[in-house]
Amino acid sequence: MAKLSGETTRLIVKVAIAAPLYRLFDYLAPADIDIQSLAPGVRVEVPFGKSKKIAYVIETSAHSQIDPDKLKQIDRILDDKPLLSAKDIRLLHWASRYYHYPLGEVFSAAFPAILRKGNPVNLGVARQSYRLTETGLTTNNETLKRSPKQQQVLAYFQSRFPNSISEPELTLWDKNWRTAVKALLAKALLKQMGPDDQPNSYAIATSTLANAEIIREGSQKLQLNTQQQAATEAVISSLDKFKVFLLAGITGSGKTEVYLQIITKVLERGQQVLVLVPEINLTPQLEERFRQRFSVSMTLSHSNLTDNQRCNAWLNMQQGISAIMLGTRSALFTPMKKPGLIILDEEHDASFKQQEGFRFSARDVAIMRGSLLNIPVILGSATPSLESLHNANQQRYQQLILSERAGNAVEPTVHLLDIRNKKLHAGLSDALISEIRKTLANNEQVLLFLNRRGFAPTLICHGCGWVARCQYCDANMVIHQHEKLLRCHHCGKEQRSVSNCPACKVGELLPLGLGTERIEDALRELFPDKILVRLDRDTTRLKGSLESYFAQINQGKADIILGTQMLAKGHHFPSVTLVILIDADSGLFSIDYHATERLAQLIVQVSGRAGREEKPGKVIMQTRHPEHNMLNTLIREGYRNFAQIALAERKEAHLPPFSYHALLRAQADSPNLPQAFLANVAAMAGTYTSNTHILGPVAAPMEKRAGLYRYQLLFQSNKRSDLQKMLCELVANIESVPYVKKIRWSLDVDPVDLF
Ligand code: ADP
Ligand code: ZN
Ligand code: ZN
Repeated sequence: MAKLSGETTRLIVKVAIAAPLYRLFDYLAPADIDIQSLAPGVRVEVPFGKSKKIAYVIETSAHSQIDPDKLKQIDRILDDKPLLSAKDIRLLHWASRYYHYPLGEVFSAAFPAILRKGNPVNLGVARQSYRLTETGLTTNNETLKRSPKQQQVLAYFQSRFPNSISEPELTLWDKNWRTAVKALLAKALLKQMGPDDQPNSYAIATSTLANAEIIREGSQKLQLNTQQQAATEAVISSLDKFKVFLLAGITGSGKTEVYLQIITKVLERGQQVLVLVPEINLTPQLEERFRQRFSVSMTLSHSNLTDNQRCNAWLNMQQGISAIMLGTRSALFTPMKKPGLIILDEEHDASFKQQEGFRFSARDVAIMRGSLLNIPVILGSATPSLESLHNANQQRYQQLILSERAGNAVEPTVHLLDIRNKKLHAGLSDALISEIRKTLANNEQVLLFLNRRGFAPTLICHGCGWVARCQYCDANMVIHQHEKLLRCHHCGKEQRSVSNCPACKVGELLPLGLGTERIEDALRELFPDKILVRLDRDTTRLKGSLESYFAQINQGKADIILGTQMLAKGHHFPSVTLVILIDADSGLFSIDYHATERLAQLIVQVSGRAGREEKPGKVIMQTRHPEHNMLNTLIREGYRNFAQIALAERKEAHLPPFSYHALLRAQADSPNLPQAFLANVAAMAGTYTSNTHILGPVAAPMEKRAGLYRYQLLFQSNKRSDLQKMLCELVANIESVPYVKKIRWSLDVDPVDLF
């Protein structure tokens, strides 16, 4: 047979390279390679330019557009078989198309750093772990009483069954485990986990287990109330199919208990659970509650772990050794050997949207993943996002409502405190101070919230009006009095505080506005004998400091808790009875349409810290807009009604979720290039579509940041498919737009803020 051009007897491999490149690249497979070794998803190392790069096999083919003589050969095949399932690979393809982000980068995001760099799958986890053999499981450890150490070790493994136990875990338990473990290995009561043990994992072990071994001994399921019971049953009856549930439960309504009981059922089926939370550090109690309830192996994944720890966590889920993963946004792509359920707690939280690079929404991708894996997804929140409520209104999600606090706790009462024309001491009104005094006199805790750290946001000259500005950003320098610094919160630039006005040399320099430091000083002066804890990014820089503050508060060794939005995130402070929002007005007048929703969520979440146990709680919000519609709807009618009104406003204004947005941002170190670039893009995009509005280019709300000038182009369409079609063409051609090499651009599909 004649050889056609472009055809070769050698297999062609199309790979996605982990780099910002939108196309696939062709390589020759090594000679005589079995096609199975190059299954989609397998990592390979390829020569690229003068260097080597890690790439992912997308497909193999007999053909290439390129002359095979010009193709290079793959250097190394890194995996025996793909580490991701075919369905998860489909998910990555979908995400790459939907967010218009290079496939190789999307693949990279799914892998932990160690594997991304091309390291071999090190079954270090498994090799350094031990588990009971069947004999070990059934042997009465009393028979070893002549070797007490061995008896102890065997008893420990039996108490932890079906978990395998890793060497570091053993060391934590007791430093001197080696000799005993060696002896038990020799007696075949324990075995070492090796590469061949992969399937011998949690999933298989539990299929023969009763309930009792999933639940930790001594831990008590709570008796669910009617609403919790209904929610739990609704999910349990759909465990074998894809369905999205919106668990809309007010703060303290017992959402976590609902998760725990549903998870128990999933574990009984021998399946794994992925639980995503906004920030693990801020919710140490959640981890604690999971650990108390379940005796199965659980693993964490978040950015405070070392690369090794993260890789191990990933592999433990991938191999079915761990049953539960509790992680942040980036844990979303963790492969599961036996996927059973995905939960997103605090689903409204903006941190589920990645704000740089691969700008995906963990919530939206989780739902797509649930659909591909055919498993249920639970979105939980006291303040669901307008998008999710809209989907529930449209019957796309099933809504499960918990409208009452669990146990004996009742919802706090909320009061607006009008501070117009009132005398203020560092932002605190007399009425407020006397409320604080009353609460403290009852030995109850007070929590004050202000979403601004530092001493004051502005330093102004009383003589001439000069204001300390950042030289790199369109922003004021924030006064950090305790450190005697001025600091820009946008680029991090610091300078020593000035004592003379640089402009007029004589005017008095005054701090303007409020920050947590300033409130702290005022409160310490007002209540010198009370213990105050301030929680913000400045006081919690050191590793472990946040945890120790939380512990201090929960042991009752704090009277006044003051902080920023760190306080808003799902934390359970049992003795707080008075919650104060010092400035409820910030955010009422933002130009970003998301701001009202965010503010309402913040108010409800902060308020939710009050009166979570026996003692009833009270919330006071200081405002200069006591008649403000949004605030009043929220207080009088609750978040749900507020949200329905906000949705009606969005519909009226044709804003998401009633239309679809994408934001193209461009920046450079001069203002002209990004503007010219975006104007060209706008003109080009206009020729692709008549169904998409193109708004801009306009300056970003903060035009200059960290020395870069920032502009944006907003695309808005009534149909997602119209917008997507236009974006496809746009991204395919954007590299030929004038000035593209001189600026940096990024595309944000479904942006959660317009900054
Ligand atoms: P949420 O996650 O909705 O804010 P939590 O799950 O933290 O609420 O529950 C708040 C408190 O109520 C916790 O102390 C929890 O132990 C308790 N709780 C939850 N469900 C019940 C129940 N059915 N009976 C008694 N107490 C409950
Ligand atoms: Zn001056
Ligand atoms: Zn700056």
